[in-house]
Amino acid sequence: MPSDTVAVMNSSEQWDRVCTKFLREFGQQAYTNWLKQVGYNGVKNNIVSLIAPTRFVRDWIKSHYAPRLKDYFIADNPSIQDLAIYLPDSSKNTDTAAQTAEVVMTPTIAVENKHEASFEGSPLDERYTFDSFVVGKSNELAYAAAKRITEANDVTFNPLFLHGGVGLGKTHLMHAIAWEVFKNQPNKKVVYVSAEKFMFEFIAALRFKDTHAFKQKFRNVDLLMIDDVQFIANKDSTQEEFFHTFNTLIDNRCQVIITADRSPTDLEGIQDRIISRLGWGLVADIHPTDYELRLGILQSKADAASHKKSIAHPGGASEKLIVPIEVLEFLAGKITSNVRELEGALNRVIAYATLVGRHITMEMTREVLQDLIRANNRQVTIDEIQRKVAEYYNIRLAEMLSDRRARSIVRPRQIAMFLSKEMTKNSLPEIGRRFGGRDHTTVMHGIRKVEELMLDDHQIEDDVTRLKRLFEA
Ligand code: ADP
Ligand code: MG
Repeated sequence: MPSDTVAVMNSSEQWDRVCTKFLREFGQQAYTNWLKQVGYNGVKNNIVSLIAPTRFVRDWIKSHYAPRLKDYFIADNPSIQDLAIYLPDSSKNTDTAAQTAEVVMTPTIAVENKHEASFEGSPLDERYTFDSFVVGKSNELAYAAAKRITEANDVTFNPLFLHGGVGLGKTHLMHAIAWEVFKNQPNKKVVYVSAEKFMFEFIAALRFKDTHAFKQKFRNVDLLMIDDVQFIANKDSTQEEFFHTFNTLIDNRCQVIITADRSPTDLEGIQDRIISRLGWGLVADIHPTDYELRLGILQSKADAASHKKSIAHPGGASEKLIVPIEVLEFLAGKITSNVRELEGALNRVIAYATLVGRHITMEMTREVLQDLIRANNRQVTIDEIQRKVAEYYNIRLAEMLSDRRARSIVRPRQIAMFLSKEMTKNSLPEIGRRFGGRDHTTVMHGIRKVEELMLDDHQIEDDVTRLKRLFEA
C-alpha cells in the first residue's frame, strides 16, 4: 500500500490503549498467544490495518476477536469504520510470507523439574494449593480424585475429567496437583497448560507438518493437565488429531487430567468415540457451592488476609485486620454465583478497609459492594413472600389467600401485598390476582395501610424490616 495514503496517527498510543482493553477483557494468556504477535500498521481510509505473522494467527483473530478489537478502535476514534488484518507483505507472495513468518510461541513459565525442557506450560499460581482449597460436599469427589493422583504411584484412572461451572475451583485443583507433585515427586515431569495454548502449539506443529515432534515432546511427560478443554470443542477440524495425541499419551501411561465447563457428554461438536474415550477414566463434577462451603472459603481467605494485612492508623500504629463474622455470613448469603466473585468481594472490602484505615463493618461492606449486591439480589417471587409471611405470623397460606377478614389474617396479608409490590416487578392487578383474585384497588388499599402503620407502629415497622432481611439472606 502506498505510504502517502496511510495515516499513522498516534499509532503506538492508540494501539497501546487497544491492547490494554484487550488484556483487560480476555486476559494475559489470550493476549500473549494472539494479540501480542500482531503489529499495528496505521489507518487508511478509516480502516485500521494490522499485520499478523501467520495466516493462522490472522484467521484466529478474525474469527475470535475482530469485532471486539473494532469496538475498541471505534471507542478510541469514532471515525474508524473497519479493521483489516494482513499478512506480512501479502501483496507479494502470501504463501511464502506465511510460511517463513516466525511463529512466536511466547513461552510462559515451564512447569517441570530441572530436567531438560520439553514443553512450555502455562504459569502456576502459588496461592492455588491443596492447603488453601476448602472442601465441602460440592467438591469433595473432585478433591479426593485430585489428591489421589498426587499420592498414587501408578495411573489409576486415566484421564481424570473434572468439570463444573466457572469459578468453582477447577484451575485451583490443577495447580494444587502440580505443586504437590513438584514437591513430593520431583522426578516426575508435570505439564500444566491451558487448552487454548495447547491447541495453538499443536496447530502450529500441524502447519509445519511437525506433529511428530510435537508428540515427541510429551514422551517423557508423566502428568499432563489441560485446562478448559471446552475451548477445543466444536472449533476446529484438527480436533481429531488432537485427540489422537491424547490417545497416544494415555497409551504411554501418561496421566492426563482434563477440565471443562461441562461433562464429556455435554461437550458439543466432538465425535462420540472421543467423548466416550474422555469418559473412560474418572469423571468428577464440581457442583455449585452451598452456603456452608462459601462461609468456609471466606473464613479461610479472611484468616490468610489477617495474617498478612493490618489496618494502619495515622501516627504509625497498626492493628490486625479482622473481618467480622457477620460480614462473612452476609457475603456467603449474598454472593452465590461463584467462588471467584465471592473472593473478589472480600478482597474489595479488605482493600477498602486497609486503604482508609478503618475497621471492617457491615455498613462499609454494604457501601463498598453496592453494585455486586444488587447484581446478586435474587428475584423474590410472590409465592415466596406469601409463604414466608404466613410462616412468620404463624397463619396458614390458605388463610392468607382466603376471604377471611380477621385482623390476625388481614395484617399479614396486607404486609405480604406490600412486600410483593416492593420486592417484585409485578403490577397491582397481578398481585391482586395472586392474592386469591382480589381487585387492584384492594391491593393498593392494603399497601397504603401498611405504609401508614409503619409510621407509628414500631412493631409493624420491625416486622417488615425483619421480613425483608429474610429475603436478602
Ligand atoms: P475455575 O477454574 O473452575 O473457573 P478457579 O480454580 O479459577 O475456577 O477458582 C476461582 C477462584 O476461586 C480462585 O481464586 C480459587 O482459589 C477460588 N476457589 C474456588 N474454589 C475454592 C475452594 N474450594 N477453596 C478455596 N478457594 C476456592
Ligand atoms: Mg479455570
